[in-house]
Amino acid sequence: MTQKRNIVVKIGSALLANQQLLTPRYGFLQRLMEDIAQLRAEGTNVILCSSGSVALGLRLIGETPESAGVSDKQAAAACGMPLLLNAYKQVGHEFGFEIAQILLTLGDFEDHRRFLNTRNTVHRLLEADVVPIVNENDTITTEEIRVGDNDRLAAKVAQMVGADDLVILTGVDGLYDRNPDDPDAQFVPEVEDVSLYMDATKGKSTLGTGGMGTKLQAANMAQEAGVTTWIAQGEVDRPVSHVLDGTRRATRIIPHPNPLSGWDSWIANRLQMAGSVVVTEAFEDSLDGKQPIRREHIASMAGDFTRGDVLHIYDSKGVERARGLSDFTSEELRVLINNPDTPAEQLLGYRTKGEIIRGANLVLLETRHLLWDAPEEIVCAA
Ligand code: GLU
Repeated sequence: MTQKRNIVVKIGSALLANQQLLTPRYGFLQRLMEDIAQLRAEGTNVILCSSGSVALGLRLIGETPESAGVSDKQAAAACGMPLLLNAYKQVGHEFGFEIAQILLTLGDFEDHRRFLNTRNTVHRLLEADVVPIVNENDTITTEEIRVGDNDRLAAKVAQMVGADDLVILTGVDGLYDRNPDDPDAQFVPEVEDVSLYMDATKGKSTLGTGGMGTKLQAANMAQEAGVTTWIAQGEVDRPVSHVLDGTRRATRIIPHPNPLSGWDSWIANRLQMAGSVVVTEAFEDSLDGKQPIRREHIASMAGDFTRGDVLHIYDSKGVERARGLSDFTSEELRVLINNPDTPAEQLLGYRTKGEIIRGANLVLLETRHLLWDAPEEIVCAA
């Protein structure tokens, strides 16, 4: 990666698509791209995470935001994506730069090889001075393989590329301590612990997928990776740079003072987990993120997983304390913990050091503010 400042800018559907006509809002795009051209001229790398494909495609398939079901939205995304990118391309050319499209699904973040591959591609585009425009590949994603909203998608991209800032442009000027329509609502300029505001952020936007809640979830993911998040109104001149230079009001979510490394962040910030283990009461005080978890430290397990899958790690009170990457499959682990007195080599047919989760692949969650990707089901015994 170059030493330039890297920023990810997330743009919501309502800024990009006219709410009634469902056509591109070129006025907004002009202001945005002019600002991006300026930021690039000052030496900043910009990656866009743009919504709008569903909103722009609805008209072509004869649907509206209210009438469209899941498969309609998938078809609308296929229609809207070329319209969206064409609009970006035209306006980008006016300001003298090229754009490129990257369509991702959850697997591109969760599978480490695909994660690295995607990251390399983004870096290669930045080296070539092209602005990557990322969106979720809605046309082919089903519920199980979706990130689900572009706020979190943008945070995952920011984490992936080690961005300095994530700017979330939306229809409001930032976070309020209660519904902004309430006359007593107070603007919140800076946030450290996003969990304090989750209750105040219920509700979602009409055109996009997220609301203020998903923005805070995204900000939480970003802050753990050392990224500063800004939530700001996009409907203005210089929508990004005036946020970054502090001349316009925005909510700033400050990064964690000791951010996770790229590897630890990849382990901790997953949306899908393959299984879980409960550690013994005797071991739980030794959970320090460095000591490996061995078979004798595991009281029970759940799920079907393979080597390299990430597991939830619970203590005996059912509190999720850590996440870690398993060096064993669920079948192997089940055999090992159901036969505690038989040597592993005899059970598995090969020699092992007995570390189910190595210290280097274990991340404590104690500094996290939100566990929004925690499983619904309670863990059960092996
Ligand atoms: N990927 C969706 C689209 O392009 C937007 C999802 C979101 O706004 O969160 O329309």
